[in-house]
Amino acid sequence: MTTPRTVLVTGGNRGIGFAIAEEFLAQGHRVAVTARSGEGPEGSLTVRADVTDTAAVDAAFAEVEEKLGPVEVVVANAGITRDTLLMRMTEEDFDAVVDTNLGGSFRVIKRASKNMLKARYGRIVLISSVVGLYGSAGQVNYAASKAGLVGMARSITRELGARGITANVVAPGFIETDMTAELPETQQAEYKRNIPAGRFATPNEVAKVVAWIAGDDAAYISGAVIPVDGGLGMGH
Ligand code: NDP
Repeated sequence: MTTPRTVLVTGGNRGIGFAIAEEFLAQGHRVAVTARSGEGPEGSLTVRADVTDTAAVDAAFAEVEEKLGPVEVVVANAGITRDTLLMRMTEEDFDAVVDTNLGGSFRVIKRASKNMLKARYGRIVLISSVVGLYGSAGQVNYAASKAGLVGMARSITRELGARGITANVVAPGFIETDMTAELPETQQAEYKRNIPAGRFATPNEVAKVVAWIAGDDAAYISGAVIPVDGGLGMGH
């Protein structure tokens, strides 16, 4: 049993973020989620925030601190895709994805680090993707944003590692959520052929790993990239 903590998960109203919030709740933690729409799982505190808006992120943290206490574990999960080939990708497609996935994570962990430094304790988990290091045709913006999270976690590890703070990356492969449901059936079948496990994962299979890396048993792991991809990205 890991020590109960105050946990904040961004984008916790659906998909992987929802499953992560459920898993932390099941393990006895105090859980808040940020959402632009909808609600987190029953038992969690939902706060409104768009991660591209620094003031909204700040207000969300203030509300969580008031109701649940300082955030000790933060999971930067909110993310989007705007897939298209490089030649067709607009600057707007590029900026929107980088500002949400990479910029959003920066805003959230910067705000979280204030209290973590005071407490000399913190767990930062960044949700990247197998394609961050593996690459993916049609995802120049998305892969760049997800690769950036690796440099971010490793730099935080070097800056804050001596203060009881860890920063790790979880890199999922294909997970059954709205994001992958948008892919055409033929493309899904093609992807499955390339995944050694031969299937997509459930959001809960990612959530279990996130809860473990944020828990007491993983205190000496920092700057790591943990794949949850059925073997798809081996060596990347
Ligand atoms: P979904 O599309 O199902 O959910 C995305 C979540 O992010 C939603 O809660 C959404 O909120 C939130 N979000 C998006 N933009 C913003 C924003 N600007 N501000 C606040 N919240 C925002 O995605 P998944 O659950 O599939 O993915 C979650 C994370 O996992 C993402 O970072 C994704 O890149 C990553 N990932 C997913 C994989 C997969 O196969 N599904 C594989 C590898 C990584 P709202 O409902 O309000 O839009």
